[in-house]
Amino acid sequence: NSSLHEVDPDVAAAVDAELRRQQSTLEMIASENFAPVAALEAQGSVLTNKYAEGYPGRRYYGGCEHVDVIETIARDRVKELFGAEAANVQPHSGASANAAAMFALIKPGDTILGLDLAHGGHLTHGMKINFSGKLYNVVPYHVDEKTGLVDMEEVARLAREHRPQLVIAGWSAYPRQLDFAAFREIADEVGALLMVDMAHFAGLVAAGLHPNPVPFADVVTTTTHKTLGGPRGGVILSKQELAKKINSAVFPGQQGGPLEHVIAAKAVSFKIAASDEFRDRQQRTLDGARLLAERLLRSDVTEHGVSVLSGGTDVHLVLVDLRDSDLDGQQAEDRLHEVGITVNRNAVPNDPRPPMVTSGLRIGTPALATRGFQADDFREVADIIAEALKPSPDTAALAARVTALAEKYPLYPGL
Ligand code: PLP
Repeated sequence: NSSLHEVDPDVAAAVDAELRRQQSTLEMIASENFAPVAALEAQGSVLTNKYAEGYPGRRYYGGCEHVDVIETIARDRVKELFGAEAANVQPHSGASANAAAMFALIKPGDTILGLDLAHGGHLTHGMKINFSGKLYNVVPYHVDEKTGLVDMEEVARLAREHRPQLVIAGWSAYPRQLDFAAFREIADEVGALLMVDMAHFAGLVAAGLHPNPVPFADVVTTTTHKTLGGPRGGVILSKQELAKKINSAVFPGQQGGPLEHVIAAKAVSFKIAASDEFRDRQQRTLDGARLLAERLLRSDVTEHGVSVLSGGTDVHLVLVDLRDSDLDGQQAEDRLHEVGITVNRNAVPNDPRPPMVTSGLRIGTPALATRGFQADDFREVADIIAEALKPSPDTAALAARVTALAEKYPLYPGL
């Protein structure tokens, strides 16, 4: 019954240091967020001890009466949240949700149409050395070079030419909304199934601030830890008629025992996601991203070749375009790190620099909105970022402004 500090001071010290890092810096990685204390508590509970292969009411182990309650609550809440007929809350992550969904829907050797990784798609949408690129015949679609928007004419043309079994709509780095009705129409025309991966924007959908893909797609996958703000994990939503196939693709197809402690934390976050407070947070997330894009575009940092892809954003992230800047993605990421802002470098479409360097930054607002940031705070963050990206910035002064913001919104004050 000894505590972590007693049993393993080395790991405990690193956990403490990570907490202090999260508290003292500004987290702007677009795929990250801060799980609520209630979710941390559920995830750190004795549920981690329980084997529960199978599904509520049909387990392969005894003693599942309590985890059955939890998993049923999680499933019911997420169905209600997104208006889905069926839900599987067991995928350990977004990548395993996608793997299971594809395993259920198509066969190895089938053709999939997905957004190119270099244009904002995810690894699981057909990257060469990912399972998706190895098992399936991948036809990538792209964003239009001028507008930065997904080229739906190309999607339609490629679909007619290659007759895919599955069309995937979704992204990891794209600042606009997709046209789900148009994807549905294209999929129907060529007899393909449609999977939407809403991992990034699920929180916005839950809040009613982004179109819901559920009515359009055969299957919708998501993570629970990005805009949705819960524990790390995945979910698959589907029509009832696909539920059996999906359940068996997750277990026993992909996984063994489900992580019921994580499923409990997912249930907590779905409850929170249905609240007015959550909607307000998602609205501040969107407002913050819009302010960031506007202020970067209006500031004189643009004289140094810094721009914003697609000219703005409709979601929780901004893609900074450094193709015309002397500063590359790696240097820009390091510069912001130096002042206490954490972002990730990101390849832009047709990036002239190598993938480990890149000519872009992906900057997201969900974690700061969770911390409580209001429009004025986001304006200040935008100005700090613009200053930091200019040649020879006063990094000490900028770091002091970052610290002031971090102290204004204490994170996990009780921990
Ligand atoms: N799908 C999309 C669109 C993503 O952006 C990500 C993660 O970045 C994933 C799936 C994979 O999620 P995970 O990292 O939980 O496997």
